[in-house]
Amino acid sequence: MKDQFEQLKDDVIAAATKIADRDALERLRVEFLGRKGKLAELMKGMATLAGEERKLIGAVANEVKSAVEAAFVEAEKKAERGERYERGETERVDVTEPAIGSRPRGHLHPVTQVREDLEDLFTSMGFIVADGPELESDYFNFTALNIPPTHPARDMQDTFYVEGAHGSNGEVVMRTHTSSQQIRAMRAYGTPLRTVTPGRCFRNEATDVRHEHTFHQLDGMVVDKGISFAHMKGVLGIVAKHLYGPETKIRLRPKFYPFVEPGVNGEVTCYLCKGEGCRLCKKSGWLEVFGAGMIHPNVLREGGVDPGVYSGFAFGFGLTRLVMLKYGIDDIRHLEGGDLRFLNQF
Ligand SMILES: [Zn+2]
Repeated sequence: MKDQFEQLKDDVIAAATKIADRDALERLRVEFLGRKGKLAELMKGMATLAGEERKLIGAVANEVKSAVEAAFVEAEKKAERGERYERGETERVDVTEPAIGSRPRGHLHPVTQVREDLEDLFTSMGFIVADGPELESDYFNFTALNIPPTHPARDMQDTFYVEGAHGSNGEVVMRTHTSSQQIRAMRAYGTPLRTVTPGRCFRNEATDVRHEHTFHQLDGMVVDKGISFAHMKGVLGIVAKHLYGPETKIRLRPKFYPFVEPGVNGEVTCYLCKGEGCRLCKKSGWLEVFGAGMIHPNVLREGGVDPGVYSGFAFGFGLTRLVMLKYGIDDIRHLEGGDLRFLNQF
C-alpha cells in the first residue's frame, strides 16, 4: 500500500511539472486531491488495515499529500510566470514614459472657471453657446450695432485697428465687445434665437489696476415674437441669483448703449454686505455687473430680423469683473499676467 501512495505521488508530481496552464493544473488538482480524487480513494483502503500498519500508512499518506500540494504550488507559480511573460510579449512597456503623477497638472484659469459655470447655466435655459472672431470687421463691431463711423460712442471703445487690413466688410479691428457676435448670430440662426457668446475683447487702454487692454465678456441675446423687458429682467434675475445666491436682487437703471433702446445698467445686491454697504460696493450696497436692454430696431434689421414682428433683449456681463468680484482680486492686470504665484491660488 505504501508503494501505491509513492507511485501516486510520483505520477502527480510528474504530471504537474509538465503543465503550464493554470486551468489544466486545477483540473489535475481535483483529479488527485479532490474529495473524490485518487488520493481520497486510496485512503479509503486504509480502513481495512490493523492498528500499527494503519498508523504507518497514515503517516505516508500525509507525507504524500503535502509533497503533492507543494508541487502544485510550484507549478502554479510557474504557470503564472508564463502568463506574465506572454503578456510582456504583447504589451510593451515604455520605460521612458513619465510615471503617473510625476508631472504637475495645470488647472483652469479663474476666468475660464466662471465662464464655464455661466455657459452651463445658459445652456440649461436653452441658449446656444456661440463663438465669434476676435479680429472683427469694423462693420460687425460698430456699424451694424448702430454705431456709425461718426458716432461719439466709438470714443468710449477705442480699440486696435489693424493697419492695412481690410476684410469684406471694411476695416479690421480687435473686437471691443462680444456684442459683435449679435449680427452674426441672427444671420446664422434666424429666429427664434437664444444665444450667448463668451470671449476675449480688447480696448486701447492705458493699463492700471482697473483697466486692461485685454478682458473677457459674455454677451447674450434673446429674439422672438413678444419678447419684453419683463423677460429680460427675469433672465437676468436668474443669473444674479446663480452667481451670488438666492437672496440676490437686481436693480436696473437707465443707461445709454447705442445698440439697445431702452438700455440699462444692471446692478446686483452686494454679496459681501447683503446690501448694507461696504468697501467692495463703495458703501452703495450694489455692484454693477452687467449692461442690458431691448435690442435696437436698427440692430435687428442688420441681422435680417423684422423689428415689426420680432423683438428681443441683449445683455453683456464683464466676465473679468465677475471674477475679480468673486475672488476679491484688486488688480485686473493679474488676470492676463500669467504669473503662476497668482494663478496657483485658484
Ligand atoms: Zn457691499
